[in-house]
Amino acid sequence: MTRPHDLPDLARLSARIGADPLLIHAAGGNTSVKDGATMWIKASGTLLADALTRDIFVACDLPAIRAALASDTARADRAGDFACVPGGLRPSIETSLHAVFDQRVVVHVHCVNTLALAIRPDAEAAIAPRLAGFDWAIVPYTKPGAHLACAVKAALGPATDVVVLRNHGLIVAADTVDAAGRLLDRVTEALSVSPLTQAPDMQALGAVAGDGFVPLPADDPLHAVACVPWLTRAAVQGSLYPDHVIFCGVGAIALAPSETPGQALARVAAQGLPPPAFLLCPGKGALIRADATAGARALARCLGDVLTRLAEGAEVVTLSLDQNAELLNWDAEKYRQSLNAG
Ligand SMILES: [Zn+2]
Repeated sequence: MTRPHDLPDLARLSARIGADPLLIHAAGGNTSVKDGATMWIKASGTLLADALTRDIFVACDLPAIRAALASDTARADRAGDFACVPGGLRPSIETSLHAVFDQRVVVHVHCVNTLALAIRPDAEAAIAPRLAGFDWAIVPYTKPGAHLACAVKAALGPATDVVVLRNHGLIVAADTVDAAGRLLDRVTEALSVSPLTQAPDMQALGAVAGDGFVPLPADDPLHAVACVPWLTRAAVQGSLYPDHVIFCGVGAIALAPSETPGQALARVAAQGLPPPAFLLCPGKGALIRADATAGARALARCLGDVLTRLAEGAEVVTLSLDQNAELLNWDAEKYRQSLNAG
């Protein structure tokens, strides 16, 4: 297939944002460019950071995706069906999210500065003064996929090129790769907040480590979430955005006074919840599973980067039990029953 002339430019932009932990974590985020009836988009499971060292883009049939979105969202969610070359890499699950934009180039990131505002119940009011002058829209939380794409489509004005996804992230769109990169930089700058910092007590943390959990490196921002009580309270309320659930489990778990990591794991298991990737030790810092994947480590750090940018006193909106369950393909009934039994 003939590749669009600016696919190498998109690969360079993708590698740049993919290497920035304030924008992208693990296999999250995606970029695309439209070329006539073909849309080239990051393949599912690949890393934007790898865009210059491997071929992460896959061609898909744009009119077919748009037709499915208009008539049958379940079909639109089978992104693999729209690949121009069957049997190869599969297009991202968020392919339909890119197809709803008229602009050629679309960049979707899980920007931590955006998330620190987009997890608040007053997200729109908090973001509006910062994005004055941009043509932007905000969309309620919806499970990633075709339903989210339809919600974004409904929110777009004739020239909207910035979309904030509540409890999820940010999309920017432009007709050239260069303009998309510059727009992303301007928006993330407008939304940026200085993070709160708080050093962990590595000695005390080392003393509670065990049962397969080890201290995170001293410079990890998740320590501050464990050491600042109002941040710990925000973290344990529940899951704040989808990739956290996929990589780290439901919400965050804080050790009770004198509780060991093993006892906390048993408490979580008894509730029918998936095992946590990390544990917050109030006043000390954060532990992570010694065998945590790179994705779990990236998403643990992401939670620290998001919550240390939350305005003091701000409330957070968490994903409901059903919203957690639909991400995990997990039986929320088990959890409800465990609560009733308890
Ligand atoms: Zn996303």
